[in-house]
Amino acid sequence: MFMWPVTPNRTIQLSYAVVATSGRIRSPEVGYHADSNELASAADLDRGAESLHSGCVDTGAASGTAAEPVCRAALAADIGSVCSMINAVVFDVGETLVDETREYGTWADWLGVPRHTFVSVFGATIALGGDYRETFQVFKPGFDLAAEREARAQAGQPETYGEEDLYPDVRPALSALREIGVWVGIVGNQTARSGRILRSLELPTDFVATSDDWGVEKPSIEFFEKVVEVAPCDAHEVVYVGDRIENDIAPAKAVGMRTAYIQRGPWGWIQRKKPEVAELSDWMIHDLTELTAIAAAENDS
Ligand SMILES: [Mg+2]
Repeated sequence: MFMWPVTPNRTIQLSYAVVATSGRIRSPEVGYHADSNELASAADLDRGAESLHSGCVDTGAASGTAAEPVCRAALAADIGSVCSMINAVVFDVGETLVDETREYGTWADWLGVPRHTFVSVFGATIALGGDYRETFQVFKPGFDLAAEREARAQAGQPETYGEEDLYPDVRPALSALREIGVWVGIVGNQTARSGRILRSLELPTDFVATSDDWGVEKPSIEFFEKVVEVAPCDAHEVVYVGDRIENDIAPAKAVGMRTAYIQRGPWGWIQRKKPEVAELSDWMIHDLTELTAIAAAENDS
């Protein structure tokens, strides 16, 4: 993400949405009048699109990719970034709000595998680009997650989490966002049981839903379109916060939301240097409380 200064208190973000494989936007002359420091008009932005597009053609053509639509999509996302406030922030659950140390530690116990061994294979699976659920298959070929969840529940060892598993910044961050007028949602790939736990925690939120509730799960576009539907504002006024590039950041950006990548948990650390993270994340944060200052700055400018 580049930050171009406009006034001492205003910057424009060029987030390079969806340009990961086709080249970079290289023209800084878009989004503001260089002389007057005023925001550019729609016509200016349209002319800027041509500038941006021409800036992309070289690299796109050279690589054999379709540069034009990709660059226009990027510009549309950038226009949203330039012109909109942050009216809603929607959070993923696992490793964004909930520290899953207990979650996967108890799965290791259930499988009879040392916790260190389980989490090492888990990390290796992620690093190799696999689905984390392949970890279970390593230790128990044919592992059926739904059936094993039910078996754990029947054995009195259900998957669970509570207040003590929340990262310590969760309540302060959510409260602070609401205090400045931002709508706060929680929507993640979670079971119905997890949804009941989330609601029982009575977090300071305006909306809670899970993939089980909706019948669609990340990273499907339908999931993120539903996030936009429930949010009380346009997509470009929503920030989706997550720890996974492929499950959170990329699909949220694809439907026009802005994105904040939180660097924590297995994915957060393993994926942090992937080019897509920098290219598709409007913000990279280490603590959820950073979002308050981000929203305040955007909304005051
Ligand atoms: Mg997560």
